[in-house]
Amino acid sequence: MSDISNIVILTGAGISAESGLATFRGPDGLWEGHRVEDVCTPQALARDPVLVHRFYDARRAALAEVKPNRAHEALARLDAEWPGDLMVVTQNVDDLHERAGATRMLHMHGELLSGLCAKCEGRQRWDGPMLGEPDLPFAAPACAACGAAAIRPDIVFFGEMPYQMDRIERAISCADLFVSIGTSGAVYPAAGFVRTARYHGARTLELNLDPSEGSIFFDETRMGPASELVPAWVDEVLG
Ligand code: NAD
Ligand code: ZN
Repeated sequence: MSDISNIVILTGAGISAESGLATFRGPDGLWEGHRVEDVCTPQALARDPVLVHRFYDARRAALAEVKPNRAHEALARLDAEWPGDLMVVTQNVDDLHERAGATRMLHMHGELLSGLCAKCEGRQRWDGPMLGEPDLPFAAPACAACGAAAIRPDIVFFGEMPYQMDRIERAISCADLFVSIGTSGAVYPAAGFVRTARYHGARTLELNLDPSEGSIFFDETRMGPASELVPAWVDEVLG
């Protein structure tokens, strides 16, 4: 590892699976019993805001029932101890990386614990439900900055642009090592990061339970649960 200085890590739903949060693509293609198109698109939010908010309210409430696992903890240790550059890019909308203590990270698909104003694009921390009284007609919560009833989940829906892509692409182009953890390699643009990293000369490593759609693009692939693979790899890196 002596030739490695800049590390970029991409994480996906698989790193949070052992904490008890369901991954995205179950065997029947549903996420928590819903078709993705029914809950994860801007069209769905416009068509049936109650369904979409109920879904995200439940995901947000579920965060209180789970805690970081050994994989999140190992990455937080790497974050604290790695002397070179490090960026953890997560596709996850949970807060388990930061609860484990990670700081050098960003959420490219947004966060459950944040509300985004559709009018002024301001953000505010959001801990509770977004749906109001069940017997009243639906109204989006009011924005603390502009007052518009326009708060929505701060989640990148299908068809929307992931956050901070410039920063991510810059980090990947300078990386010596790119590591992908617990992601199926099915959702773009994240699924393309490994090819960008290779193009710029990074070594590439995949840690996942099953071979992902992008496994062939990695120099090395290790299969197993994140709670075992990630701490072992971090021990190796930190020597
Ligand atoms: P995905 O569900 O498509 O794939 C999960 C991957 O993790 C699979 O390849 C699977 O083999 C692997 N996996 C499952 N259990 C594992 C374990 N214990 N250890 C290691 N690997 C394991 O997830 P994705 O690629 O992150 O895809 C997509 C989208 O789903 C993201 O945009 C994300 O925002 C969203 N999502 C987020 C959460 C969350 O925040 N926790 C949960 C579900 C979905
Ligand atoms: Zn606003």
